[in-house]
Amino acid sequence: MFEEILGQDRIKGILTGSILKNQVSHAYLFTGPRGIGKTYFARAFARALLCTAPAARRPCGMCDACIRLAEGTYPDFITVAPAEGTRSIKITQIRELIRQISAKTYDGNARVCLITHGEAMTVQAQNALLKSLEEPEPGNVFMITAENSEKILPTIRSRCQMLVLEPASPEDIGRLLALKGCDGSRRETIVAQSGGLPGRAMAMMTHQEDETIKNEVFETICAILNHNGFPIFHLAEGLGKEKDGGLTAAEDLILELTGVMEAFVLSGDDGIPEGNRWLRKVRPQVDPHWVSAATEIVFELTRRLGTNANPRMQWEAALFKILALQENNL
Ligand SMILES: [Zn+2]
Repeated sequence: MFEEILGQDRIKGILTGSILKNQVSHAYLFTGPRGIGKTYFARAFARALLCTAPAARRPCGMCDACIRLAEGTYPDFITVAPAEGTRSIKITQIRELIRQISAKTYDGNARVCLITHGEAMTVQAQNALLKSLEEPEPGNVFMITAENSEKILPTIRSRCQMLVLEPASPEDIGRLLALKGCDGSRRETIVAQSGGLPGRAMAMMTHQEDETIKNEVFETICAILNHNGFPIFHLAEGLGKEKDGGLTAAEDLILELTGVMEAFVLSGDDGIPEGNRWLRKVRPQVDPHWVSAATEIVFELTRRLGTNANPRMQWEAALFKILALQENNL
């Protein structure tokens, strides 16, 4: 159980014991800073609870509950979070939850209600929830996650088993990053800056990858401006292997080009405004016609990347068109 979770041996021990002894509480409060893995842990616990295999072999990954949980279609796993675009969990959401859990469970087993960002519940919402915690329907297990347990009403806290997550060790964070293909000095930097928070480490890794790609696109455009098309092949090959075919990189490029264009419009030809390196390095070498034509080409590229076209070839074609613009400017 819980092999997928880094560290947290103490909590793993508590929860494994409760499942093996069939002494699961009816409410748990997972607390710890953002990125420590509260929701990840709660979901793992839900899988172990809802799986129908013998306790020692859960989650089996093969039963109906395991399969439907993985698909996100299991009816007895209900999640509540702040509605999109809002920062609070409102009383209407909790009332809807209570309505849903008043019915019998789908297969007569347990039902898990996961409330993430529990501190976002309004006081009214928390009070509405309280009743279900005071007089729990058999079979329902509440899991609440919160960064700051102080924002959860004491009356709710006292009815939950508190699980305080601890930061992962540098070794564990390092192993996680290695599994994701992040190595060398990049990995050391992230381990040092992650503060033991797996979520933060993963976000930093993705961010760093995006930055690396952005840098390469920038360097290639600079090479093109110097009439050197050689780096195009390498960049196109790399972007072609990206999950989105380099669509994000193309959208970023449009943003940068738009920024350069704005600088032309706003400041005319006098001086280059302080700001990003694109303006400083690219602008002296291009004119508004070039920027507008290059932007058009990248727009067309984003459209094509959305189809089934081979991304590497689309990137090559677009970058060579931009190179041709530069050659015509001679
Ligand atoms: Zn199972």
